[in-house]
Amino acid sequence: MKAYLIKNGTLITMDPKRRVLPGGAILVEGQRIKKVLNREEADSFSSAKPGAEIIDARGKLVLPGFVNAHGHAAMTLFRSYADDLPLMEWLEKRIWPLEESLEPEDVYWGTLLSILEMLKSGTTTFADMYFFMDEVARAVEESGIRGVLCRGMVGTGDNPGKRLKESEEFCRQWHGQGDGRITTTLGPHAPYTCPPAFLEEVLGLQKKLDVPLQIHLAETEWENSYCRETYSMSPVELVDSLNLFSAPTLAAHCVHVSPGDIEILAAQKVRVAHNPGSNLKLASGIAPLPRMLEAGVVVGLGTDGASSNNNLDMLEEIRLAALIHKGVSKDSRAVPASTALELATCGGAAAVFLEDTGSLEEGKLADLVIFKYQGVPHLTPNHNPVADIVYAAGPRDVDLVMVNGAVLLAKEQFSRLDEERILFETKKRTAALLSRAAGKAKA
Ligand SMILES: [Zn+2]
Repeated sequence: MKAYLIKNGTLITMDPKRRVLPGGAILVEGQRIKKVLNREEADSFSSAKPGAEIIDARGKLVLPGFVNAHGHAAMTLFRSYADDLPLMEWLEKRIWPLEESLEPEDVYWGTLLSILEMLKSGTTTFADMYFFMDEVARAVEESGIRGVLCRGMVGTGDNPGKRLKESEEFCRQWHGQGDGRITTTLGPHAPYTCPPAFLEEVLGLQKKLDVPLQIHLAETEWENSYCRETYSMSPVELVDSLNLFSAPTLAAHCVHVSPGDIEILAAQKVRVAHNPGSNLKLASGIAPLPRMLEAGVVVGLGTDGASSNNNLDMLEEIRLAALIHKGVSKDSRAVPASTALELATCGGAAAVFLEDTGSLEEGKLADLVIFKYQGVPHLTPNHNPVADIVYAAGPRDVDLVMVNGAVLLAKEQFSRLDEERILFETKKRTAALLSRAAGKAKA
């Protein structure tokens, strides 16, 4: 069994006591963290642990890897393709027509591109809702990252039953694959694309498979008006009335939620993925994060797809989460740095139904990231490691990324991915996709 001893670094554990351990050490055995040691324990622990490869983290920070709780990985192919438009116009006129021309291989390469970017910025787990999900799962399996995956289902149009069937097959085939790195859920897209009868069918399948749900919820004012006009309920009330929250549910966005909606989310233990960058860019609004946290809602942070962000950098989302709620509430204590970091680590792990990652604790999965710290001008003089990560660090500071006990990125080199080839293939395939879509538009 492969073992690593990561020593001499400052550990930001995100454990229940939120311990920060300068000069600490972590022993990784196989896929898991075997020991977390403070300075004294680390000093007395045999540094010559037989068989353990030493990773010297002197002058560096060791954190749990970030959890990106909401996104559509292959949409990296549409990065900066259509910008500065309202959500529905952006979806209907620009994104959906292009998605109609996507081929499975496009999704495979687009997902690999997103994984390059996520690993380089310290993300070790991502939640994903898209289609051609076998290709997404293949990319996750090969790359070594962790993925919580679902086939996004729209309940209107031709043969929605086919999408349910695909989802079922996907869950059965992929759950637990990649040494347990792949977990699966069902993914009804949103209340405005999934009529109640379809959501009831989704719930039926959920009961059969016993898997969680991911859904977009209360993202825009338009969605709220639509639900009020059509069902005389808010999106949250509608989904609750259909008993969907009897399943473990991760709801993305929850921007337009009333105090009553927040009560429902808390009471039904619905997890929320907060996507500040995407919500700002699509002008959807700003989710009432402080009120949701106060009510006890479990919240994670997400980037959403790269075409509404336009990057997959969780450090940027952490910073936005810490900043925008201060501005909105005019309260500088709103979403302190430590809370923002929780959302991206232990909170995110709980949000995506994984209790085994998101903190540096004995017995948890070895999903971690090492940041350069001392000697880095924009992080000096190192007063407060948590505040430095939240307010000052960037992807360029990532030094090493480990997932499931395997080093996937070190000194800017990927161990399992061919960066140059992925960049080449994604550019080539995007050009072909655009010409296919243009051909369809003419026809
Ligand atoms: Zn989304």
